[in-house]
Amino acid sequence: MLTRRYLYVPMAAILLLASTTSLAQSNNLTAIRCGRLINPVDGSVTQNVVILVRGERVETVAAGVAFKLPDGTKVIDLSNYSVLPGLIDAHTHVLLQPEDERGAPPVITKSQAFRTVQGVAAVKKDLEAGFTTMRDLHSEGAGFADVAVRDAINQGIIPGPRLLVSTYALTITGGHMNNAGLNPDIAIPDPAALTDSRDAMIAEVRREVKYGADWIKLYATGTLRHVDPVTLESLSQVSLEDVKAVVAEAARWRRDVAAHAYGGEGAKNAIRGGVRSIEHGMLMDDEALKLLVEHGTFWCPTLSVYLPETAEDDTEFRRRIVAHHKDVFQKAMKMGVKICFGTDVGAFEHGTSAREFLKMVEYGMTPLEAIRSATIRPAQLLRMEKQIGSIETGKLADIIAVEGNPMNDIKALTRVTFVMKGGKVFKSPK
Ligand SMILES: [Zn+2]
Repeated sequence: MLTRRYLYVPMAAILLLASTTSLAQSNNLTAIRCGRLINPVDGSVTQNVVILVRGERVETVAAGVAFKLPDGTKVIDLSNYSVLPGLIDAHTHVLLQPEDERGAPPVITKSQAFRTVQGVAAVKKDLEAGFTTMRDLHSEGAGFADVAVRDAINQGIIPGPRLLVSTYALTITGGHMNNAGLNPDIAIPDPAALTDSRDAMIAEVRREVKYGADWIKLYATGTLRHVDPVTLESLSQVSLEDVKAVVAEAARWRRDVAAHAYGGEGAKNAIRGGVRSIEHGMLMDDEALKLLVEHGTFWCPTLSVYLPETAEDDTEFRRRIVAHHKDVFQKAMKMGVKICFGTDVGAFEHGTSAREFLKMVEYGMTPLEAIRSATIRPAQLLRMEKQIGSIETGKLADIIAVEGNPMNDIKALTRVTFVMKGGKVFKSPK
């Protein structure tokens, strides 16, 4: 016999009963009916699953027909969708917009206040695209505005992903994220912190932590303009001892270091010096890839941001960079490098990070591995694997739904229809 407290009934009956009890007092419980649940932990795909969410956390995940549904439970019907954990983009720039990549740098054309307003709009788009957590790797001239955006999200003032931010990045005079080609007689702030000695690097780590950095970003190599057009050698910006000093200082404050590094000595110094992740890495050689495996260093390849966006970008040099990137990515997969989904979104339209999945799969990654790279693996990178990355009892209820099945068609991840972050719904099917 059915009672209203303990039900062991088929799915349809659960939903029927829930709808008849919708006027009951709220018990802070939400039942999400999933057509198909993708579990990146074991790679399983299960039909007809109910996820029970209490407050901000997952209480139970139950497949099959037997399930108990207390009175007052709110029901969300995602039976026409594929459900998976909230996605994690481990390399973003919420204060950056595509137009900032063209023409005069934004430190010249925009106030930090205006960039912050743009950032508020950006994080909403990124969240609605299914990204419930993002590591932001440099405000690129917007100072500590990333801290402000993160705090506003955490306080519920604005919608956005759970952010881990790195504020300024450490660079050297003449290196990456300097304003190049400007009149030296005009004082214009550089986007990154110029740290030309080890002492200056250590002091900058302290300053960033003091003002709210969750991560430290280090430019271990230069950018494309520093790459030798013939040999493709990148500019090394740091010695092994420099990296060790930055990593040790960051560790004192319980922070990790992410290194922008294309390849060459700069990348190897970063890996040997103990950074937690290498960003981009498209010019790494086999020795650097071996070092990544040996040191357990994570790698965010950011494949799609280096593709030429315009005919003007489509140079022989750029084509060589992209070809190298693909080659390194395929080798890294074979070698078992811990590849994390990271996009550099901001350099391209916010809300379109999922385009990176298409490139990863085109280059030979299975859809399941691509999903893992944006869920369980970056959760480990961020040392948040007990909180996020999978839909399991006790974890934060970061849950998304997409149209179609991403295990057969990775493009499904560009069709996010439902987003829950920490038990709160931010997007629902129309
Ligand atoms: Zn970046």
